[in-house]
Amino acid sequence: MTSLLLRHVRLVPVRTAAPPDPVSLRIADGTITAVAPELRPEAGERVVDADGRWVMPGLWDQHVHFTQWAQVRTRLDVSGTSDPAEVLALVRDHLGSCRAGDWLFGFGFRLTDWRREPTVAELDAVTGDRPVVLTSGDAHAGWLNSAAFRALGAVPADGPLTELAWFELMTHVIERNSAQDGDAAVRAAVEAAAARGVVGIGDFEFSEPLLTWPGRVHAGADALWVRTAVYADHLDAVIEAGLRTGSPLTPDGTVRLGPLKIISDGSLNSRTAYCHEPYAGSSNRGVQNHDRAELTALLGRASAHGLRAAVHAIGDAAAHEALAAFAASGASGSIEHAQLMTARDIATMASLGLTASVQPGHLLDDREATAQLWPDRAERCFPLRSMLDAGVPMVFGSDAPVAVLDPWESMAAAVHRSADEREPWNATEAVTPAEALAASVDGRDTLASGQPADLAVLDRDPLAATGDSAEAAALLRAVQVEATLRAGRLTHATGPFAD
Ligand SMILES: [Zn+2]
Repeated sequence: MTSLLLRHVRLVPVRTAAPPDPVSLRIADGTITAVAPELRPEAGERVVDADGRWVMPGLWDQHVHFTQWAQVRTRLDVSGTSDPAEVLALVRDHLGSCRAGDWLFGFGFRLTDWRREPTVAELDAVTGDRPVVLTSGDAHAGWLNSAAFRALGAVPADGPLTELAWFELMTHVIERNSAQDGDAAVRAAVEAAAARGVVGIGDFEFSEPLLTWPGRVHAGADALWVRTAVYADHLDAVIEAGLRTGSPLTPDGTVRLGPLKIISDGSLNSRTAYCHEPYAGSSNRGVQNHDRAELTALLGRASAHGLRAAVHAIGDAAAHEALAAFAASGASGSIEHAQLMTARDIATMASLGLTASVQPGHLLDDREATAQLWPDRAERCFPLRSMLDAGVPMVFGSDAPVAVLDPWESMAAAVHRSADEREPWNATEAVTPAEALAASVDGRDTLASGQPADLAVLDRDPLAATGDSAEAAALLRAVQVEATLRAGRLTHATGPFAD
């Protein structure tokens, strides 16, 4: 394999210091083999003069639902609607351009934004016999028409399905959508991720962990490292195959088995996140999908077979129960979301060594819903600063399709907690740009000899902001990724890298 010499690159300091002046960086066999002020080209080596561009470890999105993300990019967008009637109008308009025999898939409505609950009957009145499935923006609810219920062989309902009732059907909906989209949608989404500097993802899709990604990589969609999670329904098969978290599922380890994923509660917008205190104006405290004994048994089983656990917990009571189950089972892993936490549980999380796998983009989307549903606990939401200060290891993700698969957006949201002109929400919980970068590189440090050659070449210094958090966030969003390398191979290339 020929080596690649990058000359005149500036190293972005990530977790560790970087030399102040540009350096040369040599890559061979998927590894950074040398970093020095000036390296002389070797015979047959490809040389790229980066002309002072910035380079950092490649980015990871630690929480995605990749198939759905690929699909959302082709679905009817029904976000930003304030009433079911608005969605019906969008659906009616879109039906004219649907191919005969196709289903209509839409995405993005938020029940909390609507003045009333939608009905299946009103959707039927617009859609007739064509199956229509509309997925909520948090992916915890689905509004189907009768034709879709029939085609899926499911028991019809009067309104949207939520949580487990929806998740049972969602798998089939995703399959149906995949069949309609073909491979192209996945390949395009992989390429779009690489174009933002992403080299790896933690995929929490409901899928066949041993088949889905190995098949995609085999078919050429191989720009990303993938850790593919396993849900309880595939746990036996994984254990029987002797696989642990980290086991390679492709010969070169591009795809590896991720953690056991457990969805322990619901979501804020569906009012199903499980809380210590009731939602505003109600006696509802949300939904606990597994009690503590079940959770402990599941985590214990995973741990006994070498699997880490990733427990979805959005409400504070869900996080509390999850932590108790981690403590009792001795399992290692992460709390996914950790959206509402008590100070005590943050301390417990640190002492148990559990990772906070957080999605800062949600804090921009959930600001209004929080004011409406959790006004009495808003200051405990998305406690990123508190978790970092307590010593909780933290990684960032998008939860795509709930937010866009773009780590720069996640980092910007974590740094400046406002999507508009308003003051940042709970500004004391903001993190610095350097901390945001550190949470987005899968634990890697500033590029150095001996590291895997996973890197992103940037048009500017992402840490150059000198002003307030709004400026720092704007800078992060403005970063252009000019090249991405995974395992030493260019997965995205513009400018001098494309030649
Ligand atoms: Zn998720």
